[in-house]
Amino acid sequence: QAGELQDLLARLSQQSAKSKESCALCDAAEVRQALEQQQIIPYYQPKIDLGSGQLKGAEMLARWLHPSRGLIMPGSFIPVIEQYGWATELTLTMLEQGLQQWQEWARQGLRLPLSINLSARSLQGSTLIDEMASRLQRAKVPARYITFEITETAIADNLPQAIGMAARLRLAGFGLSIDDFGTGFATLQQLTHFPFTELKIDQSLVTSIGSKPHLQAIANSIIELGQRMQLTTVAEGIETRQDMELMQARGCNLGQGYYIARPMEAALMQSWAKQRQQMVSETPPTIS
Ligand code: C2E
Ligand code: MG
Ligand code: MG
Ligand code: MG
Repeated sequence: QAGELQDLLARLSQQSAKSKESCALCDAAEVRQALEQQQIIPYYQPKIDLGSGQLKGAEMLARWLHPSRGLIMPGSFIPVIEQYGWATELTLTMLEQGLQQWQEWARQGLRLPLSINLSARSLQGSTLIDEMASRLQRAKVPARYITFEITETAIADNLPQAIGMAARLRLAGFGLSIDDFGTGFATLQQLTHFPFTELKIDQSLVTSIGSKPHLQAIANSIIELGQRMQLTTVAEGIETRQDMELMQARGCNLGQGYYIARPMEAALMQSWAKQRQQMVSETPPTIS
């Protein structure tokens, strides 16, 4: 196996010139190594209930802790991962780290629902779901605590595979979220085939929505659509107090964004959660 790996790495360094076209920063062989050596780690961004302020979950966002270059954002290395067909490995390393974190937090009384992004490329892997389900079983994490986010664009581009994948994810008990909704080209008719549990409104319809009257009708309709389909609606990209208040006023359930908290490493996420739960429980009851 070591020989195989060396072979692969040699082949990849030859190809890396090509990969530089799509990613000026990332060398494919290095990305591969990063995946294997767990240099790609999750950051966590809280999702809160817009009504109560309570912490409801966290989205796991991949970061590359590069030994010499420091923190690298997913926009720079995920295209390489997808191009080389390693999306499954990315999903599995994120899941594995998420499960370990979930267990550690659970031991401290925090059972935090986690979301993992699924790339279009991993919609094809037929054994991925079985593998994930068995890892959950081993870790004794109930599947309902893990939600997979699939973008509207990934769905529209891979409709038959996406439908199959979605059905199997739900059968295995995972949550299913449609990400970046409102920017892709899926038709509403196509979406009725999907057993979603959550709808995430794209940040372009959330950030500074107060000053974008032409987009407000769209944002409102999406929230209403989500409500009618009995999905949890999430606004991503809340950057100001006004963004948050507008989304809450429109009836959106949950919010995520820099105004609430930036994506952060696990230890910070944990102290954020503790502080937030304390704040929430210290809020005096409203008198009606
Ligand atoms: P996404 O799933 O839509 O994630 C939300 C992105 O918006 C994240 O960027 C997050 O840091 C950023 N964000 C959060 N709040 C705000 C805000 O208030 N304002 C603004 N302007 N941005 C905000 P990030 O971490 O750079 O990730 C970018 C994309 O990379 C993600 O978009 C997702 O599509 C992809 N990605 C990240 N991690 C993974 C992963 O593990 N697997 C896969 N397949 N894709 C991933
Ligand atoms: Mg996402
Ligand atoms: Mg998103
Ligand atoms: Mg987005």
